[in-house]
Amino acid sequence: MNVLVINCGSSSLKYQLIESESEEVLAKGLCERIGLDGHLKHTPGDKEPVELEEPLPDHMKAVEMVLKLLTDPEHGVITSLDEIDAIGHRVVHGGEWFAASTLINEEVIQAITNCCDLAPLHNPANLIGIDACRKLMPEVPMAAVFDTAFHQTMPEEAFLYGIPYEYYRRYRIRKYGFHGTSHRYVAIRTAELLKKDPGHFNAVICHLGNGASICAVQNGRSVDTSMGLTPLDGLVMGTRCGTIDPAVIEYIAQKEDKSLTQVMELLNKKSGVEGVSGVSSDFRDLEAAINKGNPQAKLALDQFCYRAAQYIGAYASAMSHVDAIVFTAGIGENNGTARAGICARLKYLGLELDDTLNQERSVEIRISTKQSRIPVWVVPTNEELAIARETVELVKK
Ligand code: ADP
Repeated sequence: MNVLVINCGSSSLKYQLIESESEEVLAKGLCERIGLDGHLKHTPGDKEPVELEEPLPDHMKAVEMVLKLLTDPEHGVITSLDEIDAIGHRVVHGGEWFAASTLINEEVIQAITNCCDLAPLHNPANLIGIDACRKLMPEVPMAAVFDTAFHQTMPEEAFLYGIPYEYYRRYRIRKYGFHGTSHRYVAIRTAELLKKDPGHFNAVICHLGNGASICAVQNGRSVDTSMGLTPLDGLVMGTRCGTIDPAVIEYIAQKEDKSLTQVMELLNKKSGVEGVSGVSSDFRDLEAAINKGNPQAKLALDQFCYRAAQYIGAYASAMSHVDAIVFTAGIGENNGTARAGICARLKYLGLELDDTLNQERSVEIRISTKQSRIPVWVVPTNEELAIARETVELVKK
């Protein structure tokens, strides 16, 4: 079965066409600057990528271009759209409606629309992608795979905020958590690598990318995670502040004469590693600056590691035992310095990294020594493959 996986952002669209038996990626690509001048990079299988500067006024046009390229005589990988058997859409927020992926129908679209308030930057873009695909390929079954669904198993004591309960009752204000597709995929994969039953597997999964979150997985289920109502909470991220005293918001607004919207923009886009270092949100730039002796860059890295170690410690202590601590996503898979900085702060858990193994990038590997009380692993995430697998499962049902 050929599954087209679509991940629509507000001005971008990522896609992969995956053959589900072999799990081979037939083609993948990225449309950027949708609504502006438009840029499309399409990679057919293992061939050279094709780059197009094509006006992409909206997501509909972007989906049209993707379908055209997939079937293009020169750059395509299929001969007609009939060879696309199903479409899997990444949807960021499923609220309390969705504890699992689902086939898309009118009712599901309405529920995703109802969650737009909770993810105003993401869900509307996801819906536009769904709408474009429905218009262009009305007969093809489509599934929605939610970032929040995996975390719907959190107990109330973990997901509730300490604010009047009526706000939960009235507006469903609570912790939802994100990156669920990745946390779930990595948890299952790590259980397989350790030859454990995924249903009896405990782990702390660290998804450290530009957006970053940590998840406590107990018996294969998410029992706590660091992001909250929105992806702003928890770790210090590329440009997001993570957990802060909420009173800071009013204080900045008063001191800087900013509106609430402006302060939220500041905390989302100008804070985190970028805000503290004054260098960049990208860890490669950060490392380069540290190597040149920039103390602010070093401080930002130390703070990132400190916060991550705090969460790992908190989640490990909430479980009776931990089978593995796992790093994934851009930083987790590639940045040995950050991994070492985090694990060095967790010596009391008996963690010990092997310095040579910790240099490895983007491979499934144990990076702790044999003596380490808890094994530490790098397991690259693959959200597109996870979405394709879930889509196939739903369509086959
Ligand atoms: P997101 O998907 O949240 O945008 P990613 O998972 O791509 O983010 O992670 C981006 C971060 O990962 C950046 O800080 C970047 O420095 C780091 N990163 C990504 N790839 C590499 C690499 N090959 N080597 C070192 N760092 C990398």
